Amino acid sequence: MSDRSPIITAHRQDEAACLRDLLAQVALPPAWVQARAAQLIQVARNRPPALFDALLQEFSLSNAEGVSLMVIAESLLRIPDRATIDALIEDRLGHGDWHRHLGHSPSRLVNVAAWGLATGADLLHHAGLVVRLGEPVLRAALAQAVRLLAHQFVMGSSIEDALARSDTRYRYSFDMLGEGARTQADADRHFDAYTEAIAAIGRTSGGQGPIVGPGISVKLSALHPRFETAQTERVLAQLAPRLAELGRLAQDVNVGLTIDAEEAHRLHLTLDVLERLVWWDGLGLAVQAYQKRARAVCGYLAEMARARGVRLVVRLVKGAYWDGEIKRAQEAGLATYPVFTDKAATDLSYLACAHILFGGETFIYPAFATHNAQSIASIEALAGSRTDWEFQRLHGMGERIYEQIVASHPCRVYAPVGHHHDLLPYLVRRLLENGANGSFVNHMVDEDAPIDSLIQAPHQVCRGGLPEPPLMFAPERRAAVGWDLSEPDVRAMMEGHAAARPDHPRPPTSAPADVNHAVDAAAAAAGSWDRLGGERRAEILENASDLVESAAPDLMAGLVHEAGKTIPDALAELRETVDFLRYYAVQARKHFGGDMVLPGPAGESNRLRLKGRGVFAAISPWNFPLAIFVGQVAAALAAGNAVVAKAAPQTPRIAARAVDLLHQAGVPRGVLHLVTGGVEIGQALTQHPGLTGVSFTGSTATAQAINRRLAARSGPIIPLIAETGGINALIADSSALPEQLVDDIIVSAFRSAGQRCSSARILFVQNEAAKTVERLLAGAAAELRLGSPWHLSTDIGPVIDAAARDRLQAHADWIGHRAARLFECPIPDGLAELTMFGPRAFRLENADLLGAEVFGPILHVVHFARSHLGSVLDWINASGYGLTLGIHSRIDSFWQQVAENVRVGNIYVNRGQIGAVVGVQPFGGEGLSGTGPKAGGPHTLFRYATETTTSINLAAIGGDVGLLTGGRQPKFTPCGRS
Ligand code: NAD
Repeated sequence: MSDRSPIITAHRQDEAACLRDLLAQVALPPAWVQARAAQLIQVARNRPPALFDALLQEFSLSNAEGVSLMVIAESLLRIPDRATIDALIEDRLGHGDWHRHLGHSPSRLVNVAAWGLATGADLLHHAGLVVRLGEPVLRAALAQAVRLLAHQFVMGSSIEDALARSDTRYRYSFDMLGEGARTQADADRHFDAYTEAIAAIGRTSGGQGPIVGPGISVKLSALHPRFETAQTERVLAQLAPRLAELGRLAQDVNVGLTIDAEEAHRLHLTLDVLERLVWWDGLGLAVQAYQKRARAVCGYLAEMARARGVRLVVRLVKGAYWDGEIKRAQEAGLATYPVFTDKAATDLSYLACAHILFGGETFIYPAFATHNAQSIASIEALAGSRTDWEFQRLHGMGERIYEQIVASHPCRVYAPVGHHHDLLPYLVRRLLENGANGSFVNHMVDEDAPIDSLIQAPHQVCRGGLPEPPLMFAPERRAAVGWDLSEPDVRAMMEGHAAARPDHPRPPTSAPADVNHAVDAAAAAAGSWDRLGGERRAEILENASDLVESAAPDLMAGLVHEAGKTIPDALAELRETVDFLRYYAVQARKHFGGDMVLPGPAGESNRLRLKGRGVFAAISPWNFPLAIFVGQVAAALAAGNAVVAKAAPQTPRIAARAVDLLHQAGVPRGVLHLVTGGVEIGQALTQHPGLTGVSFTGSTATAQAINRRLAARSGPIIPLIAETGGINALIADSSALPEQLVDDIIVSAFRSAGQRCSSARILFVQNEAAKTVERLLAGAAAELRLGSPWHLSTDIGPVIDAAARDRLQAHADWIGHRAARLFECPIPDGLAELTMFGPRAFRLENADLLGAEVFGPILHVVHFARSHLGSVLDWINASGYGLTLGIHSRIDSFWQQVAENVRVGNIYVNRGQIGAVVGVQPFGGEGLSGTGPKAGGPHTLFRYATETTTSINLAAIGGDVGLLTGGRQPKFTPCGRS
């Protein structure tokens, strides 16, 4: 295996340093490059635009109509029923100003389309509903328009069609379209399609050899349902041999096979697979220049090809998942982005990579895939006298530029093959990539954009990129650090930590007397803690956040061993804990750092001060034994209270460790106490007369018991902040993309073995989509890996204890007699010592069969008719719970209607419904699901506080100085308490 360490190092380099290296390494292109690029653009602009260019010119993503058109293009052809198609059309044509696109375009087709869209929009406005006037006509016209658009991008619906359409001046690499596989059946289908395509291409290749002849592009995620780093072992065992089989077929018929690039987190896995295949000339890999490690990857490939004595094709692309990469890095809290966030840096990296590829002697056959005239001219300059390389463009794009080149230098067309519905995700990628304001293609078609702005060398336009992910919430707070679990060394480290059982002793179970003592001691310490002030308390909480971050390996191991968390879950929980501490620190500083000066009559000072209530009991569940435990404690502390925290009986070790860290950080021992034990200790705590508030997270029944106990006490009435359970629904209409929906169902219903309060419990899926979704869901669930939580490959670990497993089994048995079982994941052998419960789903004829929260990986599925959406919403409201709700739909008015009519705390649209982020998605429900305020939100601390208003008659001591010396606006002033 070649050395990957330069790839790993480059990946972690920050963008600024990386850019400095690039600027030092890549010489400014010679002057003629600019002139050549300008000429390419000028000549291209003088030719009639291709349909895509004209379309982009008229409907770019910077106008509402362009975005609507993209949504229609993405979803229209795959929606199975008329009612939903009409709803989509109404939703999308109802917005924007379609008339302003009339008669503008140099393309007749675009003008016809604009006319059709404007007419459709008029019909809607005048008739109110598309149904009343010309509905079938409009539906058919739009479907036709999308097919026409698709035709621009797809070479043919079959490989034979595509081959027949080939233009002999170009070389071709055919791409079999399709979503990544979610099931083994999908993967098998894609394998067969590739096999047939290779044979068909081979029949026409005419002995040109695998490098310069026609080839095929293969997407590894299409060939395996779990093409993820965490599943490396099984991918190598299952996918590598299948790919080798395709390789041999390709080799036999002299067809080149290039592996497409996908998301950055799949790179190492892709290289692992590739290494097992490099045995013949004709294999290729796409490398994305937008990755900071692109140069290192090029160097690595050149070295590998040389060592194996083969010729490797390297297709250099800029990269098509840019927005997704930025999002993922921010969500995962990575120290730095995997990609350049400044587009000019990518262009520069492209040239640096080209330089390395040309230096790879004959072991590398470089292919430069770009539509950017400046990059094209620069590559020509870098190539010098070398001729054994090619350009590449996408089918349907870049014709006007490449028409000028193809006669003198070989150019290959990347040509998608497949059915319209498979094309759509690909199409949207292309539109997003090229329709955005900053893209070259977009400017190139915009005649008003000056050529000068398009031909500058990237050196001249680098601006520096986005702030790195940890600075996402700057300047208020640092985001919690995450680890990139797709990096080989990080994975090894994580598995090492997780496997080591921490040796912290289990704290002894408290006696009721300990509880009394703790509350009394806390009451004695509360005043001085409150007087410390928000600023100092914030510093202590921030210290604690740093200590938690540095104790990560130990805490994560605790979560894995004591709570049965998988490694990714343990990491997410650790980060949430850190975020809670920093977020509440910010809130303490903001609201408890001084008095609010209130407006009032002259001669009077009016001030409002927030302060701690006294002693809070913080009672937490086992399912987030660190994040919820620390979150409750931190909120109470931030607001100036002393705390007696009761950990769940299943997870006292983690709680003890957290309390230790808080003490180390500077929380006085008298201010924070831990008690352990079950119901009796909870009861002893909540009936103690010294308590001034209770923060509880757990089941609704326990919250009600606590509420009754508090009500029965004599003395002051104290607040109860309760976050409880839910029967969380997920509603999907038939416009949802089934693959995306199923990914989100799997995560929402089964991740953490369904033991999250936010987990989806009941899926309402529209009749017309139900069959497809259930098939995909069962297939995807079959690919889940059940196992020990300390292996990274484990998706589903154990449930918390035998009692929980027995409750789940009892429910499964009960519902199994009343509903159809859709699937059940079997428990592999060798896990007898773990309390495993296989994820499963049941189809219910009647949602009423589910009357209470079932806390584990059991999903209930109910079909609904679009026309009866109202009764679904009624059911959700009538359940009385209101915690989370997922909605999947491409139709804005659909999700808006749902969101407006249900009483639920956290609504998630077109994404998973678990994993709320502190300060980003403040979390908590209503009704039976909780009292509020939400955890991790801007209003949390107020409930933990009490308020004092102080009104001073200034006239009594001589007069209103503020009035006499100028204005007196109400404002916050530092209170200077110490
Ligand atoms: P639980 O109600 O059984 O226990 C929660 C805590 O309350 C534990 O520490 C327990 O010892 C204590 N307790 C139990 N009886 C008590 C009593 N009579 N008086 C005082 N304390 C008592 O809940 P659980 O099984 O640990 O956790 C799972 C539940 O928590 C699920 O219902 C889940 O939905 C809910 N939950 C809600 C949220 C949220 O934010 N809404 C978050 C996590 C979990």
